[in-house]
Amino acid sequence: MLQASGRNANISDYLSATSTEFEGAFHELIKDEVVKIIRSEKTWSVGSVLEEDQVKTLIGNIFRWLLAGELEDSLAALEKLNSPSQICGRVFKPGEPTYSCRDCAMDPTCVLCHTCFWKSEHSKHRYRMNASGGGGCCDCGDSEAWHNFPACSNHKSDANDSESEEKELNLPNDIQSKAPYFFEAILKYVVEHITETKTNLTDLPSSLRPTIDNKSFSTVLFNDESHTFDFVIHVLRDALKCTESEAADFATVVDREGRSIICIGDEGKCENAKRIVTSRPTSLLLFRTSDPLKTVVMHITNLAHQELAVQLLPALSDMVMRSEGLREIFCSVAMSQNISRQSENNVQYSSAIELLMRCDHELWKTPRNHYLQVIMNSILLNADAKKSFAVLFTKLYGAIQDGFLKGDHDHSQSVAVLSVQLYTVPSISRYLIERENVIGRILHSLTKTFYVEPDAGLDPDWCRAIKIDRKKMRHTIRRMAYTFHDLRYIFAVIPTDWTPALKSEFLNGLKYVLQLLLSIHGLDQTVRRTDAHIEHEPDWETTITLMMRIHPIIKRSLKWISSDTGLLFDALHFCLMCLKNLQDSENAGIQKISHGGQQYQCIDYDICLRAVSSHYPIPRLIVAILVELSNKGFDWQEIKSNPSLAGLMEHPLFGIQLQEYCLRSLSLNAQVVSGMWKRNGLSLVNQIVFYKDYRCRQEAYERDIQMMQFCASVVDPDHFLVNLQYKMNFLNHGCSQDQYAKLTCEVFTILIAAVGERYIPGVSDVTETACIERKIIHILAVETKPRSKIMKVLPENITDQVDLEPILRKVADFREPANANSIGKYSLKADVLNEFCPYAYQYSFADEDKAQQTIIKRKSSQNSPTFFIPPKLPKFSKLFCKTPFILCSDTFISLMSGFLQKVVAGDNEMCHDKIVRRGLYLIAMAVVESKHHMQNETSKFDFLAKCISGCEASILFLLQKLETMEAHATHKDFVAWMIAEIESMTNLKRGAREHGSSVDHPSYPKTEVKAESSGQNARKQRAQELRSKLLLQMKTMQQNFLSQNPDLLGEDLPTAEETVSIPQATQNRTCMDAAAQEQAANQPEESHTCMLCQEDSASSDGAMVMAAFVQRSSVLRRGTYVERQEFNHPFLHMSFPTGIHTSTCSHAMHYECFKQFRKSSSDSRLFRHRHHRGYSEPPNSEFVCPLCSRLSNTVIPFMCRSIVHQKRSRSQDDQDKNITDMEVADDESLTLNEWLKHVCSAEEQFFDSSSVVMPDDEKESGSYDPEEFMSVDGSPTSSNQSADKSENLRDSFDEFIYDILKESSLDLQNNNMLSRQSALWLSAVTTLSCTENALRLENRSVLSKLQVRQSAALEGVLGTMYALKNTHAQNDDTFEKLFNDDTFEKLFNCIDGDASLPALLNCNVFSVFCYIWFSADEKKDGAGLTDVISFERKILRLCSLAQLVQIFVRMKVADLELTCDNVGSSSAVENLVVNCNSVRLIAGLNQLSDNVSRVGFSKLVKTCMLPFLRCCTLFLRHLTGVAPCVDVADEAVDEFACVMKYLDLPENLSSILDFDDGLQVVRRWLSHPNLQPSLLSGDILSYPNLSRIPDLVPLPPNYGELVGAAAAFKCPKFASDDSLHPTMCLVCGDVLCSQSYCCQQTHPDKDEKRLVGACTYHAMTCGAGRGLFLRVRECTVVLLDKHYRGTFITAPYLDGHGETDKGLRRGDPLYLDNSRLCALRKMWLTHGIPERVCYDTELKNIRYMLDWAHL
Ligand SMILES: [Zn+2]
Ligand SMILES: [Zn+2]
Ligand SMILES: [Zn+2]
Ligand SMILES: [Zn+2]
Ligand SMILES: [Zn+2]
Ligand SMILES: [Zn+2]
Ligand SMILES: [Zn+2]
Repeated sequence: MLQASGRNANISDYLSATSTEFEGAFHELIKDEVVKIIRSEKTWSVGSVLEEDQVKTLIGNIFRWLLAGELEDSLAALEKLNSPSQICGRVFKPGEPTYSCRDCAMDPTCVLCHTCFWKSEHSKHRYRMNASGGGGCCDCGDSEAWHNFPACSNHKSDANDSESEEKELNLPNDIQSKAPYFFEAILKYVVEHITETKTNLTDLPSSLRPTIDNKSFSTVLFNDESHTFDFVIHVLRDALKCTESEAADFATVVDREGRSIICIGDEGKCENAKRIVTSRPTSLLLFRTSDPLKTVVMHITNLAHQELAVQLLPALSDMVMRSEGLREIFCSVAMSQNISRQSENNVQYSSAIELLMRCDHELWKTPRNHYLQVIMNSILLNADAKKSFAVLFTKLYGAIQDGFLKGDHDHSQSVAVLSVQLYTVPSISRYLIERENVIGRILHSLTKTFYVEPDAGLDPDWCRAIKIDRKKMRHTIRRMAYTFHDLRYIFAVIPTDWTPALKSEFLNGLKYVLQLLLSIHGLDQTVRRTDAHIEHEPDWETTITLMMRIHPIIKRSLKWISSDTGLLFDALHFCLMCLKNLQDSENAGIQKISHGGQQYQCIDYDICLRAVSSHYPIPRLIVAILVELSNKGFDWQEIKSNPSLAGLMEHPLFGIQLQEYCLRSLSLNAQVVSGMWKRNGLSLVNQIVFYKDYRCRQEAYERDIQMMQFCASVVDPDHFLVNLQYKMNFLNHGCSQDQYAKLTCEVFTILIAAVGERYIPGVSDVTETACIERKIIHILAVETKPRSKIMKVLPENITDQVDLEPILRKVADFREPANANSIGKYSLKADVLNEFCPYAYQYSFADEDKAQQTIIKRKSSQNSPTFFIPPKLPKFSKLFCKTPFILCSDTFISLMSGFLQKVVAGDNEMCHDKIVRRGLYLIAMAVVESKHHMQNETSKFDFLAKCISGCEASILFLLQKLETMEAHATHKDFVAWMIAEIESMTNLKRGAREHGSSVDHPSYPKTEVKAESSGQNARKQRAQELRSKLLLQMKTMQQNFLSQNPDLLGEDLPTAEETVSIPQATQNRTCMDAAAQEQAANQPEESHTCMLCQEDSASSDGAMVMAAFVQRSSVLRRGTYVERQEFNHPFLHMSFPTGIHTSTCSHAMHYECFKQFRKSSSDSRLFRHRHHRGYSEPPNSEFVCPLCSRLSNTVIPFMCRSIVHQKRSRSQDDQDKNITDMEVADDESLTLNEWLKHVCSAEEQFFDSSSVVMPDDEKESGSYDPEEFMSVDGSPTSSNQSADKSENLRDSFDEFIYDILKESSLDLQNNNMLSRQSALWLSAVTTLSCTENALRLENRSVLSKLQVRQSAALEGVLGTMYALKNTHAQNDDTFEKLFNDDTFEKLFNCIDGDASLPALLNCNVFSVFCYIWFSADEKKDGAGLTDVISFERKILRLCSLAQLVQIFVRMKVADLELTCDNVGSSSAVENLVVNCNSVRLIAGLNQLSDNVSRVGFSKLVKTCMLPFLRCCTLFLRHLTGVAPCVDVADEAVDEFACVMKYLDLPENLSSILDFDDGLQVVRRWLSHPNLQPSLLSGDILSYPNLSRIPDLVPLPPNYGELVGAAAAFKCPKFASDDSLHPTMCLVCGDVLCSQSYCCQQTHPDKDEKRLVGACTYHAMTCGAGRGLFLRVRECTVVLLDKHYRGTFITAPYLDGHGETDKGLRRGDPLYLDNSRLCALRKMWLTHGIPERVCYDTELKNIRYMLDWAHL
């Protein structure tokens, strides 16, 4: 806390005077102090303009008047006076998790915060988790928000004292009396300064003008949405002469806070800055917007007042949130009208809140957010204030929406967002409906933006259509979504007790809704074009979007209406009035149609000649109301005679009139489908698509069908059918034959739907559940689907009303995801197949076909008939009971008979399969219907009678004819079934009448159906067999291909295993066996085929190479990244700071062919199309393998396997000659110590001699002698072609090494042998260790067969290494220098006290092993071992010893397993313990406790040792070519023993230490001065951790925890801000502020002079260029490949239905899925990120319009 010094102290004294006149004192205090909060011209910088300490002190001083004392202490004291809180009210930050209970929430907007949720009962219910958009608050404790369990255990109220009427303000008296004055003055000040921009001193009231003159000014830049970030950065960089990164910071502040001070100085300087920023620099002409940036120059005092006003808000907010008493006073002050404003000629008083809300859209971001926060922390927590605020809000609704609709800021940052807090409270929304006409206000504010008469209200003739201005509507359509949401909130909870006031006000509101519907009626209508095609497509999206927004409103209002019968009739009355108005205005006459000898009256409106539309909401609402009435049990008579409808339904043609509009849109749909409207263009087609799309159909197509059902029931069926056909232009044949046939099909479809679609409560007596069940059956009939896909096509929020789980369980089986790439799916149960209707009206054409085929397939597999018998349907309710009678009307019979006649006569168009099926299905429906009616004797359903009468034209006769027709054999079964049914029923009927005497036809023999169908089955079976045979063939072909072409993505496709024919040898084969090595070397070389020219390597010249990918690697790193933690050659620290990984797909080609290929592919620039201006391109060296398209960036030369061996044995030959002079020593008899001594002394001798012999000419350059390479190749050197080949080989060899070197980021200038060797060595170590890890991850032994690509990479790297060594061993001294430079001695014979060198025991021992192997030369073995192998064996022994000692000293002893029973442990194990203890004793570490479990210890040591041994095995196996002969398939084989045997190491670990003198060596190692401190370093660098496979960061099992943690994350640079894209590095767990200008950094690579996003930067350091991140809020994983490219993949979290939820859209709880996590880990460990990214972007062609470097 700052000391209030000098003048400050006086002022606080002054302030503490007990005066009610706070305002004067307040002004006196701040007028000179305020300017101090702004930093001076010299000290300010971007983002920190305020002197934070000064601000704090000043505010503290101001508040001291009220609270007398330190702010924090006083508030804490006041907090204690609060009565226990019963409402949580926590305000959500963007991205914070919110929870809602599907079982108990009143509506989906009722949410709980993380803490409350997990302490509530709802955590046991079906819940949903989403990430908040920001702005809402926790509803815990609000009994209006929840059906049950309104509060968590924290906020549970004690029932007794909750409603204490006498509320006492728990405040000290003096505070209580002062607070109103205090708040009033502060609020006045705040409102005045933030709502008005006063730029000059003279604008300030005199009481606030400073006494000291100040000449400083400031330039302020404001945010707008029309300029891009880049534009602002460019302008500022030029105007302020600052760096790009500073300009980016300015732009960030402008974006985050809504404005930024960009200049402080004298007036001239500030005006100048303004001038430059607002003028448009010519260099920026490429930016689209032409408006200047909004900039203001302000006097520094004015700015200071404004900033102080802004800063006071959070302080107030905090204060009123914490003290209940102050909150109450604050609310009443803030809401009372105490601020005067001069308007025109009178003074108006308004409240502070009102003024702020009115100016909302003019404020910049920070004050807007702050004052919203104040409202949420005060008014919304106080029930009374909330209610009066809601009233005020509703009064201002028009103004607020106006500001919002015209403005451009985010909804969540506008005061409009508060509507959700108010309108979702049922008591408030009811109050607002009753008193404030909230429905009318909302709709009015909406419609005035697009009505032609914006002020149209409910004048007497409210039911008239007001024209819509489409252009205006299109502009506001996007933002008006929120207004519709507000309406939905109002309608969310259906009232249970209707008061007369509520009823009348609701009906009043309904009039506004109807007015809107009236205006939409017939929108986008079109006239059929018969001549020319339309010229330009009219806009259709706007109306469709509007309809989609209105549909939920219609649904909700229907729910309200139907909760009260009286209302239903009232609403029906309104709608009918509207309809009457519409019809009157249209003034269509009557047309008399003759059909079948009768005359029918129809409405004279030919849709082929006059305008039609698909938007007719009013009649659809009418039928919806009728359905609801029917649901309440009303029949037609009862409805008609209702007094409130008097006069509206008496017209003789009422039914025909009523269905007119619906019939028009149905007919339009039918005609468009039939191709009669082709010239009207695509916009009409789109309209029709949406008419039947799942998003609109419920309130469009489905309502039209319901209208048909209703009218079919109340109108004479013949009249109905004639009218239908007339409207479709079906009677007068105004179309082609083809169109006529299609139209027939459509008529059938409508009739099938009218009779068959009964699953609507009200149409028939069904429950909601049954309806959903039927929907789901038909959804799943198409194909098996995941739950989210099912949910998508079901009505929105259905799960909040119905529990889907039991329904799903009833009709479907759940299939778990099979692997990490698939998701859980539901498939239809077999026993519901019979409920399938092939023509369900929810199907699109494509779905219909697919569903029918799927069901037929399934039926035939069950051996049941494959035609579709209409399923049994529920009975129509009373109002609709006559609907089926259209099926037995004369018109129907003649229609069907006419149709069948045409089919039988072979009418080409009519015989189309689709039409015939539909027609037959319709007849079948009539047959099934007859069956139902037969049970009812009184029924007049006489289809059967009509069907058999009429001789040649009778339906039965025609069917029998059809059955026999060869052309219609496909329908034979179905027709036969129908005939059988008809005959059996007519027999039955006649039998009842005529005692069964006259049987005209024998009943259709059922068995024959069976026989027929079984005959068909046999045919099907044959087809099936043939198919599976073909499939098998395909599969073999595929497998062959795969084995020749190993997979491209590292997925677990079966890959070809290495097929080295192992000669049968003894079990005890070791790689150290000379004979075995010889044998392996003499194996015939494999031949490769060049994939580019198809020539064989054997038959052609030129070196072969294989495509490879070299990348820097950090996967083996332990611990965090340390800047420039370079390896100190040859000491690779055990934390493995960096590595180079080499991988290959092993596809071979000629080096020459490859060069050509690369040239041509870089000409066509594979990657070019993706790149936009400013984006980085991947390096030119990249290419994809021509065969398998795997990403590659280099080639590995093929070294003959024999080279390595020859080289090794050649030096052996050399040595053999020498050996004769020397005393031959048995290597076994030599102790380690002696041997080491020998080696070291020999080294010196050699160094002396060889330096003399060096030929000079080869020295400096890294060039190669072709001659030398020929011998490397091992091929004869006689011909010129071979010279080419070796030159080839040399180049490719060079290229590979260069690429590795480049990747290693070693100094490229220094392309000398030393760095070449280092890089290659590092590559070998990394690739070997990573391969070992990868095998371990799959639980595979290193002795098992490896994948071709794995062995190829290892052989390639090792071969190159050997070639490099041997080429230069002869004629270049650089390599030798490495070794001669005491390396060996440094490593093993540690010179005491030399701290400049790393300690061996701090090194990665395997890397040391590799290093010596490559660098050590047998010739230096002064001890004169008999052969190379003995020498090598010694090295292996020595390194194993080092590894073992490292394990002993770095073991976490404290974690060892303890036991009290160590009896019976073998002596070997005991020895190991003794050894360990003696090593630890030397190292000065504590001993193992006696209780340590011997078995556990020995097991642990083996486990820690094994990775090293496995790496050595891989190394030697690929170097020597000696194949291990162990039956690795046998699980019982102890890998440890096998590996020891293969390496020719003693079976017993303890005997690795040849202790008598080994201990001396060990002692030297342990005495290294650098070792001791490092032994104490943390867990990460200790065993067994060091031997484990590296892992990603642990993730919590429940995703909500991550979301919660990420919400708390702040941008590390601008700590006041929440990060928009908190992103977690899955490798190290760091959370970053991604995709944001604030956290950009300069690219670490010096050559790349650009700014990159936080993730890209992190990937460079943490992931060696490759990043694996989790975007927490989006629930997606980001893969980054350097700064060039990236891709998004799903996060390893699944919901309860086996699905991922990218973007957290559905909100089902997500749980960690281990198989997905493992797949991620595997991809990371196997360096698969670049490959996957390349696969997505190049092959799958997934494009993101995203600059990845910005992430
Ligand atoms: Zn809460
Ligand atoms: Zn709570
Ligand atoms: Zn619940
Ligand atoms: Zn070739
Ligand atoms: Zn390939
Ligand atoms: Zn940031
Ligand atoms: Zn990281």
